[in-house]
Amino acid sequence: MAHLNYKTLSFSLEKDNLRINLLRIFYCKVPIIELKKIGFLKLIDENTIEFDNNKAETKFSFLLNKYFQDLKNSINNNKTVYIHQNSGIPLIGHVSFGIVYRTSSLIEIKPVTSCNLNCIYCSVSEGKASDKVDFVVEKDYLIQELQELLNFVEEPVEVHIGVQGEPFLYADLVDLIKDLQNNKQITVVSMDTNFTLVTKSVIDQLAKFDKLRFNVSLDSMEEDLAEKMAGSKYNLSYVLDMIKYAVKKKVKVLIAPVLVPGYNEKEMEKIVNFVKELGIKSAEKHPNLGIQNFLNYKTGRNPTRAWQWTQFYKYIKELEQKTTTSLKLTQEKFGIHKTKALPKPFQEEDVVNATLKCSDRFKGSSIAVAKGRIISVPSVEFIKEKQVQLRILRDKHNIFTGRLV
Ligand code: SF4
Repeated sequence: MAHLNYKTLSFSLEKDNLRINLLRIFYCKVPIIELKKIGFLKLIDENTIEFDNNKAETKFSFLLNKYFQDLKNSINNNKTVYIHQNSGIPLIGHVSFGIVYRTSSLIEIKPVTSCNLNCIYCSVSEGKASDKVDFVVEKDYLIQELQELLNFVEEPVEVHIGVQGEPFLYADLVDLIKDLQNNKQITVVSMDTNFTLVTKSVIDQLAKFDKLRFNVSLDSMEEDLAEKMAGSKYNLSYVLDMIKYAVKKKVKVLIAPVLVPGYNEKEMEKIVNFVKELGIKSAEKHPNLGIQNFLNYKTGRNPTRAWQWTQFYKYIKELEQKTTTSLKLTQEKFGIHKTKALPKPFQEEDVVNATLKCSDRFKGSSIAVAKGRIISVPSVEFIKEKQVQLRILRDKHNIFTGRLV
């Protein structure tokens, strides 16, 4: 008899398949006929499966590996890649998942891609309408690799959970924040979120983490406009309630609207006043409002043309005068500074031998691995473990792109 219990997996039986959910929103289906080859199977509870075969664990792991190749995101049915300790995929080198270190005291970590909204201005075209490949990273692997980087950096840092999407979709988020909170080298844990998935009980759990700060996107104080900008169903009053509850619980909150010209410039004054009414005490030294300038990105949704920075700063200055509030944010306000550079194992124009490991985000592109780094390879269909020679086209901040030689 083998009793297999998993923290990150849950199971449910369907007619001909066992549905396996990974970290809540990702899933694959294993045919019952395949499982019967291991032995008689019984679901004990959501996370526990039992086989009448002592050697079931190894055989079941083999099936998991096989069917995780078909992993999907339940939000949009997109193909998903699970990055874990044994995946052979490092965590440095890609802009969408893993760890991004831009030689500054702000280190970004990205445990998941995916979003429950579909904002009309999204710079990474995330959400329900996305047809990109998604990624989800094992929490312990992320923490372990982050620690290696912290050992190299050797000074206090802010860790920013800067997901391309919504971090509350990551089922291990609270445990991840707890690990970051307990790390003495990390002084601030910040996180961008749309706050639609947070609940009072989650805020209660997070309230004890004094290093944590939420950057909450809030684009309008009008229900209809907020929903239009979110590009999908959006409950503004719920989000406002959650913000107020978080503030009441002394969780640090920075409201971060994106100013999209022609859509919500009139909303900014209302948002400034809302933030004032929140009554965040000045003794709590973090900035509590940061209006962001909408920018056009090649791979983003672009409902309009972006303002030039001069126009944006003129607008901010006028709004500052009108609301008697300081609105211009600088890196210094967050205490961000330069740190030492992480060596690059290869540089632009180098030719490197690499192995294709998985599909990349865009259709018909792959991720290769060489010398402990990820290299994005556009326009190359993924073939598992294929050996390739790549010329490096981009190496900035240890984020690599290459093309076939
Ligand atoms: S909440 Fe953020 S990630 Fe999600 S669609 Fe909107 S802008 Fe994109």
